[in-house]
Amino acid sequence: MSVPAEEPGNPAHAIFERFLRAGQCQEVLGSFLELCQQLGVQGTGLQLYHGLKAALNYWNAKALWSKLDKKAGHKDYDQGTACAGTKCLVVGAGPCGLRAAIELALLGARVVLLEKRDSFSRNNVLHLWPFTIHDLRALGAKKFYGRFCTGTLDHISIRQLQLILLKVALLLGVEVHINVRFEDLVPPKGKAGGWQAVLQPSSSPLSHYEFDVLISAGGGKFVPEGFKRKETRGKLAIGITTNFINRHSRAEVEVAEISGVARIYNQKFFQNLYNKTGIDLENIVYYKDDTHYFVMTAKKQSLLTKGVILQDKADIESLLAPDNVNRDALLSYAKEAANFSTNYCLPELEFALNHRDLPDVDMFDFTCMTRSENAALVREHNGSRVLLGLVGDCLVEPFWPLGTGVARGFLAAFDAAWMVRRWAAGTPPLEVLAERESIYQRLSQTSPDNTHKNVTQYSIDPATRYPNINLQAIKASQVRDLYLVGMVE
Ligand code: FAD
Repeated sequence: MSVPAEEPGNPAHAIFERFLRAGQCQEVLGSFLELCQQLGVQGTGLQLYHGLKAALNYWNAKALWSKLDKKAGHKDYDQGTACAGTKCLVVGAGPCGLRAAIELALLGARVVLLEKRDSFSRNNVLHLWPFTIHDLRALGAKKFYGRFCTGTLDHISIRQLQLILLKVALLLGVEVHINVRFEDLVPPKGKAGGWQAVLQPSSSPLSHYEFDVLISAGGGKFVPEGFKRKETRGKLAIGITTNFINRHSRAEVEVAEISGVARIYNQKFFQNLYNKTGIDLENIVYYKDDTHYFVMTAKKQSLLTKGVILQDKADIESLLAPDNVNRDALLSYAKEAANFSTNYCLPELEFALNHRDLPDVDMFDFTCMTRSENAALVREHNGSRVLLGLVGDCLVEPFWPLGTGVARGFLAAFDAAWMVRRWAAGTPPLEVLAERESIYQRLSQTSPDNTHKNVTQYSIDPATRYPNINLQAIKASQVRDLYLVGMVE
């Protein structure tokens, strides 16, 4: 059978190619809308996906459909019916919210995703575990971003990752709304009503959307009411991230990346750095992507000596407050560390700009990291229930130099999707919650070494990822406090 070629004059093909290549959030959304209009395809969820597939069948689109079809054919999804009838609201278009939304769409749920911002601007680069690379390839990542994990590369910038996942989510019928902020839950008003959300702007028509599942993926600073946070306070840790323009010149290509030089492993390197520059670091990582990205943990005394921090203060918030930081000295510090650690082989280091059009250099506190005590809870009001689940940084904040954020974030996204599948199957709520907590216990200890090696078999089923997982480690009787009836104090 011959493969339909791209017809040069076919406007839908040209729009689809533009959609595949779109490099900004709004451009992705705009070209997708245009594509649907051009093809006359309407609807939501997998119905939209099937409509697009039927209407667009030249070679490049077909190559992507065959990847997504393979994914959608997994038995966990019951051919897209496992969660048919379930209405989900996902908060946050970070990598974990988008990844969770994709799984929910594959399960056949209606998925509405809200994002308070309208751009993806984070140049910072995330480390990918082998399973995340395999997972993204299976979603067609290379079709959207040709440079995805070429050769031995195992990382990607946050914004590129968001772009890939946003495109997949849209194709699978996730309804994405930008510039909408989730503020709170609204309990059902009467016996017949359902759970809704308080949104900003309040005029958003989505305020009337009734849902039975809320997945919160709003990042480290956003956790919905009802969840308790636990703080882990370590020794003082000050992180610095910086990005430089990557011109992809030969000299730049040849400079070796640093996938994690920790002080304990390479004392000589850090001693030399200190002797020559006065910069004192605990660790440093350098990845090449759209930018040259560095993340390092700096010692306070060297930041004081180099004039980056103006005055020593007891509490970390005042220590790193903008009025106690000399920004120019910070830029010099970051640039010197980058130059030294790449042996001065990156020519003409020029800062990339952040979303405020300022040199992309950040200094922040790692001393205290938070995690949620629980991964899910159920609220009931007027006889109507809503299942709430956390994924990503709002579940567990990662330690950036280890880059565990997105790997554990994806694991939690799969676990949350599994939970919704169990919920949709009519499993009693306390059993759903107990199973979710049993799985959550494993998350913080996961590494590529203690998760299943056969990453091609990974699915939302926890048994495919966690060896010897006991789904009943926590009993229904132990999670009664996660079932909240009435209003939350
Ligand atoms: P995020 O990526 O933080 O996404 C959360 C999304 O939710 C955001 O788009 C946010 O705008 C949106 N949102 C928040 N509240 C609401 C609301 N109420 N309504 C609607 N939308 C909302 N990790 C590293 O390993 N290395 C790094 O260098 C690094 N740099 C980072 C830099 C920044 C500025 C941030 C915020 C995070 C960084 N991280 C880094 C963490 C890393 O990005 C996350 O681990 C990873 O992106 C997975 O996060 P997530 O999807 O859970 O949340």
